Amino acid sequence: MSTIIKDIEVIKTKSTKIHDVDFDDLKFGSVFSDHMLVCDYKDGKWHAPKIMPYQPLTLDPSAKIFHYGQSVFEGMKAYKDDNGSVWLFRPEDNARRLNISAERLAIPELPEGYFMDGLKALLELDKDWIPQKDGSSLYIRPFIFASGNGFHASPADEYKFIICTAPSGSYFSGEVKVLIEETYSRSADGGVGFAKAGGNYAGQFYPTQLAKKKGYQQVIWTDDHEHEYIEEAGAMNIFVRINDTLITGPTSDRILDGITRKSIIQLAESENITVEVRKLTVTEVVEAAKNGTLKEMFGAGTAAVVSPIAAFGYKGIDYDLPKIDNPYADYLKKRITDIQTNKAEDPFGWRFKVI
Ligand SMILES: *Cc1c(COP(=O)(O)O)cnc(C)c1O
Repeated sequence: MSTIIKDIEVIKTKSTKIHDVDFDDLKFGSVFSDHMLVCDYKDGKWHAPKIMPYQPLTLDPSAKIFHYGQSVFEGMKAYKDDNGSVWLFRPEDNARRLNISAERLAIPELPEGYFMDGLKALLELDKDWIPQKDGSSLYIRPFIFASGNGFHASPADEYKFIICTAPSGSYFSGEVKVLIEETYSRSADGGVGFAKAGGNYAGQFYPTQLAKKKGYQQVIWTDDHEHEYIEEAGAMNIFVRINDTLITGPTSDRILDGITRKSIIQLAESENITVEVRKLTVTEVVEAAKNGTLKEMFGAGTAAVVSPIAAFGYKGIDYDLPKIDNPYADYLKKRITDIQTNKAEDPFGWRFKVI
């Protein structure tokens, strides 16, 4: 059966998979909701999105995604509050950033309306898949990739924009031990580090595997010139607290402009926490660890929101972070998740009501 919601054709699944899912024991991003949104670019334009049952794709082996890696994505979450209302967090920023990433990968600009209306229609249809339990959410993965064929090393002439969703439990990974990277780089000036491009992740896996073999869970990326400036924590932005000042690097070609990062900056400033957006050297962090002024380090990103760092390794030495009372990490995480889940006022206008 096919119906039209706001110009979006909807083909509903014949049998829901929702009864196979244990909503009390959800992992992160490993089961997928009944439907997905698919939007095709061909003949020089994006065509109206369709919603269809979640299913495998058929692609030609010469599809350019396999050879030249034209692919960009986003990560977002939808929350259901106690009254059953459904909320997103700053979704227009994700729509905008997807196009910023797309431009850098020579992928044609997607109309933001297709992103927003398509996502709303998908969430309305699969609203029963949005978990209500504390800490859980519906993880949303919008992405675009080159589906056009041919070995010619040039941008594809066909693309697919897809949104699929996955009911997910909380992403809490425990306190992590990280290694400050001295050899490999995630990104470089003039490169694609600011884009949410799949290839950036591919390039991170190997150095992260090496760090894991040495007993660390994650890598702290440093600048590609001198490995002296602290840039990101794995696939998250990074914050360092020295005394009572919160420091994070300025966004650049090399540092992704995270929505969690900018929300933390705004929230902390509104709470009179001093925030410095400036370059931060490894030397300064090591000195602060030695003289006891280093209080906290944490990653910031949609999946975990805030991910505290317990220790870091640098040049063969491990430095433990102190256990402190009332860390900024816990406070900021709670403030942000309370806004996201409609448990607290939203003075910033970040929350977006879907249903
Ligand atoms: C997605 C991502 C982030 C976090 O961005 P959010 O918008 O907060 O989810 C940070 N760094 C990298 C490299 C990323 O890919």
